[in-house]
Parts: sequence; C-alpha cells; structure tokens
Amino acid sequence: MAQIRHALNTTRADDFAAWYQDVISSAEMAEESGVRGCMVIRPWGYGIWERMQRLLDDRIKATGHSNAYFPIFIPLSNFEREAEHVEGFAKEMAVVTHHRLIAGKDGGLVPDPEAKLEEPLVVRPTSETIIGDAMARWVQSWRDLPLKLNQWANVVRWEMRTRMFLRTSEFLWQEGHTAHADEAEAKDHTLTMLEVYRAFADEDLALAVIPGEKPENERFPGAVETWSIEAMMQDGKALQAGTSHYLGTNFAEASGIKYQNKDGGESLCHTTSWGVSTRMVGGVIMTHGDDDGLRLPPKIAPQQVVILPMLRDKPDDEALIDYCEALRATLASQHVLGEPLRVLLDTRPGKAAAKRWDYVRKGAPIIIEVGGRDMENGVVSLLRRDRLWNEENGKPAFQTPTREIAGQTVPDILADMQSSLLTEAQERREANITRGVTDFAEVEKFFSAARYPGWVEVQWSKPTGAELEEVVERLKALKLTMRNVPIGAAPVDGECIFTGKPATERVLLAKAY
Ligand code: AMP
Repeated sequence: MAQIRHALNTTRADDFAAWYQDVISSAEMAEESGVRGCMVIRPWGYGIWERMQRLLDDRIKATGHSNAYFPIFIPLSNFEREAEHVEGFAKEMAVVTHHRLIAGKDGGLVPDPEAKLEEPLVVRPTSETIIGDAMARWVQSWRDLPLKLNQWANVVRWEMRTRMFLRTSEFLWQEGHTAHADEAEAKDHTLTMLEVYRAFADEDLALAVIPGEKPENERFPGAVETWSIEAMMQDGKALQAGTSHYLGTNFAEASGIKYQNKDGGESLCHTTSWGVSTRMVGGVIMTHGDDDGLRLPPKIAPQQVVILPMLRDKPDDEALIDYCEALRATLASQHVLGEPLRVLLDTRPGKAAAKRWDYVRKGAPIIIEVGGRDMENGVVSLLRRDRLWNEENGKPAFQTPTREIAGQTVPDILADMQSSLLTEAQERREANITRGVTDFAEVEKFFSAARYPGWVEVQWSKPTGAELEEVVERLKALKLTMRNVPIGAAPVDGECIFTGKPATERVLLAKAY
C-alpha cells in the first residue's frame, strides 16, 4: 500500500477535537464571531443546514403540523409560572432589561435608568411558555384539537462550554409544540415525532441513531417524559441529536390551555414539544468526516456534483466549457433521491486540482474533472468522495467513464453513496457498543482505555430519588452519562449493575458531547 497524502493537516487519530475544528474551517462551514459562543455560519455550512431544514420541514408537515412564528422576547413572568422549567433554564438565560442607551460618565453609552423595562424580557431559550399563551387563546373546544405547531427560529442559551455547531450560545432550530385532548394521544404523538427524527437522522443524514427514553435525571425541565435520538461519533462519544418531550398538563396548567370537552365540561390539554438544532451539522461532521475533510450524504449536500473544467486561459477553453455544460445540463434534468439533482459547473479562474481539493474538503459527493484530453476521448474523470483513494498507488481513485455513461450513472452513484454512508455508520455503531456487561468494574475498565471507547449497554432497575443521584454521581466520576433506554432493546435477564436489584430495563452509558 502506498503512502497517502491527506487533504487536512490534522487527523482524527492524532487529535479528534483539533480535526473537528480543521474540518469546519477548511470546508468553509463556519467561523468564530468574536461574540462568545456565537458563530458565523458560512454559505457552505448554511447550505447544509438549509438542506436539513427542507427535508425535516417536509417530514414535519407530512405529519400534520403548520409553521408559525412567535416573538424572540418572552416576559420573565411567563417562565415563572412553571417552577421546574424556570429553575432549569435560569442559569443560562439572556435577559433584556433596558430599551435605550444614554451617554455615561466616561463617554461610552450606558443603559438609561429612565428606560428600564417594567418587566425583564428573556431572549427565548425555548418557547413553551409563549406558545402556550397562544394555545390558550386558540384552543376553546375539543374541535380545536389536536393543535400542531412548529417554528423555525434562533434561540439563546448562555452555555459555559461551547463548541461550534455542537453547543453554541445562539443556535438555530425547529421547535414543535402540540396540544392534545388526552394523555394517550399526547404520548403517542411524542413517539411519532421521535420516529420522524429517527427517520430524518437515518434516511437523510445517514447518522444511524438510537431512539429511546431519557432517564429521569436527563429530562427537559418541566417534562414528564423525554425521549431522544443518540448518535455515535467516530471518537466513540455520544451526541444527543434530537429530543421529544411529553409535557403532561404542566405547561397547560401554567398557561391555561383548556378546552370544552365532549361532555360540556372543561379539561386541561396535554402538550408535547420537540426540537432539532444546528447541532446536527456537527453530528454529520463527526459521523462522516475523514482525514480529507467532510463527507456529505448526497441528500444534504448543497451541491451533489461539481464539474471542474481544466481551463488554461486559452481559446480552446470555450469548447471545454461547452463539453462540460452539456454534461451539467444532462445531470440537472434528472432526479435523484426524490429531488432534482444539484450540479455545479465551476468555471471560476484557478487550477482545477486546487479546486478539486477544496471540494474534497467540503465533502461534495462527486467531483468530475475534464481536461482537453478527456474531451478528445469523449470521457470525464470522476471521483467519488466516499472512495477517494486508490490504496495501491496512493493517488485519487479517478474513474474515466464516457461523458454519456457519466450522465446516466451519476444518479445511481449518489443513491449508492447515501445508503453506503448509513451502512458504514450502522456497522461502526454496532461494532462499538459493548453489551452484556454485568459488573461495574468492567465499565470502569472499559472507559479508562484511551481511545474510541464506544458505548456500554447495561441492565438497571431504574432507581429514583437518592438512589438515582448516587448512580449519576458514580457515572460522573468516570465522565459518563446515561444516554437513553433504547426502544426495542432485548428483554432484561439479570440484576441492576448499580443496585443489585432485579433489572427492569437496559440503558446505554457513554461519554457525551
Ligand atoms: P431541548 O429543548 O433542550 O430538548 O433541546 C432540543 C435539542 O436542541 C437538543 O436535543 C439538542 O440537539 C439541541 N441543543 C440543545 N442545546 C443546544 C446548544 N447549546 N447548541 C446546539 N444545539 C443544542
């Protein structure tokens, strides 16, 4: 096997965290803004988010929700109506207290004491408490139910330890909020949306997530049940990629979301909420990226095919561009994975080889280079991002189909790449989950290994109260958390690894982002 010279300066094996930042900057996805925890999302990164938005929005609408928009500022008293909710979010809320500045003593501007708001306004960290007010107005009778809303917005949570995309102080997300007539329907809907997230994560993002219920200590503040999808990153850590909450009547009580039931009496609604954020972009990087940069599942690639003519600033460039344009038009007229194929013919000045490496780092699924000789022979040079290298000679693994064959086979290659990235992620996940660990000492040993520890599945008795706190502390000492209780796990057949009592569930343990 020949030595390969990779396109990035850092490798995953050397320093996973530095590699992650390297992918983000060299793929021109995002950069630090100078404001703590807030990032500038560049066009390529935002293009990926827009693709995610489009695909998830379709799924949200297909399950009967409508989009609406609510204010960014929420009166503080709204939060105070739900005790657990305000307690959970208090330590990370940004608050607006004044609406005007005046000149201060040292010449700078300061908040005008005369312009102090009567009531502080919180920059939304999540919108249950303001959407709840609207629901209370809009729901009168059982005929108004279920009410199924979604909003695409930015939210602010003053995070202390931030990392681009994965955990930022301002992030972009969708938050769904629904009101139902009874508990059974609301719980059912919580799981319907968890399944929407699972399908989106697996089928569109190729993440291979595990859906399950969060243990009590990991619940959303104010929720009765919290469910999540968990994804395994290439360093073996877990990423909570989305959450779906059954909120009981807690927020309905706080906001007065009531309806006249079929018997003419008054009932409280049962509500749900669920969210997925720009964190997903980070999950895609850490699942699919390699030592040459990002690799993108074709469904979320801003451009699925990039055509690079090898221009030489000579008169025959024109014929080369025409040759490429014919291929671009052939590809653009086709559909792949349910949508029109996205293809870019890049005729900007610059060497094709340099541009090739830019698009490799960006993760464009297929790169097609065309030189004068290719044109003479009626062929193109095609590179698959997921099979970049010829291991034998250490060179990029170009295929050279005729232009006509390329025009016909590119959609199949893209479809194949979409499914093979998912298979790869699924196989890696399964290979790195250790099941059947019955002794806590084994857990300790497993996670003290330096590299790629993966996850461990154990059985437990679902302790509560002080017993649960003790479990959380024991795990914390190993920098571990319980991720979720997977849906569809094998039946239990032993004792709780923490308490020694008969086990009731299986739970996943992992280090997490
Ligand atoms: P929550 O409302 O807390 O259930 O959050 C919904 C989803 O938003 C979570 O499952 C995460 O995927 C994501 N999320 C939470 N906090 C952040 C953050 N600081 N930065 C980016 N994404 C976040």
